[in-house]
Amino acid sequence: VVLRNYVDGFLKENDMEVVTDTVRLQVPHESTAVIVKNLYLSCDPYMRVRMSRHDQSIEFPGFVLGSVMTGYGVAKVVVSGHKDFKVGDLVLGITGWEEYSLITDPNSLIKINHPELPLSYYTGILGMPGMTAYIGFYEICAPKQGEFVFVSAASGAVGQLVGQFAKLAGCYVVGSAGSDEKVTLLKEKFGFEDAFNYKKERDLNAALKRCFPEGIDIYFENVGGAMLDAVLLNMRNCGRIAACGMVSQYNLEKPEGVHNLINIVSKRVRMEGFVVLDHFSKYRKFEEMVVQHLKSGKITYVEDIAEGLESAPTALVGLFKGKNVGKQLVVIARE
Ligand code: NDP
Repeated sequence: VVLRNYVDGFLKENDMEVVTDTVRLQVPHESTAVIVKNLYLSCDPYMRVRMSRHDQSIEFPGFVLGSVMTGYGVAKVVVSGHKDFKVGDLVLGITGWEEYSLITDPNSLIKINHPELPLSYYTGILGMPGMTAYIGFYEICAPKQGEFVFVSAASGAVGQLVGQFAKLAGCYVVGSAGSDEKVTLLKEKFGFEDAFNYKKERDLNAALKRCFPEGIDIYFENVGGAMLDAVLLNMRNCGRIAACGMVSQYNLEKPEGVHNLINIVSKRVRMEGFVVLDHFSKYRKFEEMVVQHLKSGKITYVEDIAEGLESAPTALVGLFKGKNVGKQLVVIARE
């Protein structure tokens, strides 16, 4: 899947193109590179930011026109020039949106420790989005038992795990999502105390007041814009906001203004941004915790799987229309 043109405004399927090419399954002589067969690809909102002509992100380089797009994926090593990787090893890391990828720096790959679990989980709950929920909730939000927690885009890859972490921490959790089906999922599958469909609420401030008569201690921010503005009016004194992402803004040429920032001052709120890439040294600790909870049934997980590389552009666009129910990924091969 290659980037066909830089994206202005809302992402469209034909901004990407599926092309056919041949690759040599051979690593350059004396190189420590590996070649992987890609199995599962992760669709992530930040990829949209990499598709703009003027890359707004300092953390991720923009995609190159006509070149294969890259992202997190689960893959199997098929050729290895690296002493720590052997043919057949299963790995998680940045790979190409293609069938086979040459990985020039295999040290960036993480070996998969639990192949007994569905491998696709390593694109989500056991991968980058899971780490994002873990770092954002435990480290940035610093939760205390009994606190009131609000999560936006709550049924997605990151949000569904944040809500369940909050339940494990003994918090009261409410989520917002963009359909009634997702609201039901939040309450019945993930154990949120309450949830609302933000698309049906005429007044977000009133919706939050209804769900949090005493205010919000922790806001896990995934969407930005009007939701952030309404949350600021409902924060309690000394509340915390983990600024994880602002998906409502990624397709806008000019980001929406936020008007209620003064509440950060008057309510002594701490709002802190974070980028998960800075925290991968804690990956194994996170992995063991989540695997344990998955195996004991304390945490559950919902994913939305698109079949085949040809479906990848539609799956990616769907993230910005709320089409995905749970973590969006693409399966290219199962082994
Ligand atoms: P999701 O699985 O939640 O998919 C995106 C969801 O965003 C959609 O399903 C949709 O849900 C919602 N959405 C799309 N457009 C809008 C809009 N205009 N307004 C409100 N909601 C919208 O994605 P992830 O869980 O992977 O990512 C969630 C957030 O976390 C994103 O902001 C992402 O950029 C951020 N992130 C940050 C990281 C970091 O290091 N800081 C790392 C990884 C992710 P709905 O139907 O509910 O509207």
